[in-house]
Amino acid sequence: MTEAVTIEGLRMPGDAIIGGAAVAVADRFDNVTPRDGSVIGRVALCGAADVDRAVASARAAFEDGRWRDTSYADKKAVLFRIADLLEANLDELATLESLDMGKPVADARAFDIPASVKTFRYYAEALDKLYGEVGPHHPGRISWVQHEPLGVIGCIVPWNFPLNMAAWKVAPALAMGNSVVLKPAEQSPLTAIRLGELALEAGLPAGVINVIPGTGEVTGQALAKHMDVDMIAFTGSGPVGGLLMRYAGESNLKRVSLELGGKSPQIVFADCPDMEAAAQAAAWAIFFNQGEVCTAGSRLLVQNSIKAQFLERVVEVAKAIVPGDPLDPATRFGAMVSEEQMNNVLRRIERARADGATLLLGGERVRAESGGFYITPTIFDGVDPASALATEEVFGPVLGAIGFDTPEEAFRLANSTIYGLAAGVWTADVNLAHRAARAIRSGLVWINGWDACDITMPFGGFRQSGFGRDRSMHALEKYADLKAVTISFTGAA
Ligand code: NAP
Ligand code: MG
Repeated sequence: MTEAVTIEGLRMPGDAIIGGAAVAVADRFDNVTPRDGSVIGRVALCGAADVDRAVASARAAFEDGRWRDTSYADKKAVLFRIADLLEANLDELATLESLDMGKPVADARAFDIPASVKTFRYYAEALDKLYGEVGPHHPGRISWVQHEPLGVIGCIVPWNFPLNMAAWKVAPALAMGNSVVLKPAEQSPLTAIRLGELALEAGLPAGVINVIPGTGEVTGQALAKHMDVDMIAFTGSGPVGGLLMRYAGESNLKRVSLELGGKSPQIVFADCPDMEAAAQAAAWAIFFNQGEVCTAGSRLLVQNSIKAQFLERVVEVAKAIVPGDPLDPATRFGAMVSEEQMNNVLRRIERARADGATLLLGGERVRAESGGFYITPTIFDGVDPASALATEEVFGPVLGAIGFDTPEEAFRLANSTIYGLAAGVWTADVNLAHRAARAIRSGLVWINGWDACDITMPFGGFRQSGFGRDRSMHALEKYADLKAVTISFTGAA
């Protein structure tokens, strides 16, 4: 794709979707594009009363069975149609995503939207593959275990992969027969609203999907404290994850699943089978999506015998990653999502310098004349393993390198944060790879590759990276309860 992307004629969605229709709620907020800091539209800010309406419509749809009780075949057909409509509108959705949160439109086209399409197709295919169980044989009775939908699922998602994170939750929740109320991040509401519109166009009955843009404090909180929501499926930060557990405790003990942050290590051993591939991966693991990735490989742990030469190559790769206009199809590194996030990352860079780390590359704001929020890819060496840069999530394009001598030291460093989301290991030694996979406490371990998996594999964290899994058949179980049914036979022994 080489032609320039234009936003002329592009409709900016701004309404909530409640009860099967677009609803212009009383309050609105400015939607700012980080590309140039301009306001691109006014979006519904759903208040508590709007959240009530959305939850009530989801509840009514669930209780009368208009979706839950439709056949597998009909459910499949609708989810496949949603996927087809997302695909048919790929260019529009990619442009909206790029404009809304600053990612390169090329990435939105190649990754975000296709991954969302695949997610809906996967769960369309999967929804009649989840079997229950038959209990142990008993002469006087028969027992079985069946999955049942939970009811109303509140999905609260972040701004880094807005449509894809929504798809990871909405598709399996719908596949299990639930109704959903989706709250996008206030920085990135556009594709979530389009998802709601397209799902209705695809034939999902009214009320089964509701989309309520707004702020976390108002809209998200009202949803998470709602007495008639059965579960909150969340991706976002640890502190908000903690609030959601509290809200659940203070309201109706709704279930909560949390996909939170990370400080993922990339461990490169001296016997790495492909140094060039590892150097490319090391750079892109942290610079893809401007480093705004929960699994970002933000800690580079390199065996000391190869550290200097390896880092030199990573810096060379990173030098070629230049911030540019997200809507330029040639751009591979875009804008930070907001001014606030840019300043947050710049403060963490300052802190790393003050803590004595050595700046090898970047560390500054660029393209300020555009009005947008851009930071260069940034690499530090000599990072103190106890410092903030080595232990706290930056959620931006900042890589910190740390040397190690032995595998034990590497594993200890890898496990030395509160997180446990993802880890990469580069080695030619299958025994060492196996040891690493066992030693590292994280939900995902990638050997000799980074993020080399897809919708078929569960995604989520250990420890303070959260609990509950997106993707794979396990996500279906997350949106279901188990019911044990027993029939007793009269006259039997
Ligand atoms: P965030 O501040 O936690 O926000 C996430 C969502 O929660 C947004 O929709 C937000 O709404 C909402 N929210 C905020 N306060 C709330 C409250 N009091 N009650 C209910 N909802 C509330 O996170 P973020 O800054 O958008 O995203 C970055 C974080 O997400 C990082 O920590 C990153 O690692 C994590 N993340 C994790 C994964 C994963 O799968 N593990 C994937 C992507 C991102 P508003 O934005 O409208 O305030
Ligand atoms: Mg925006």
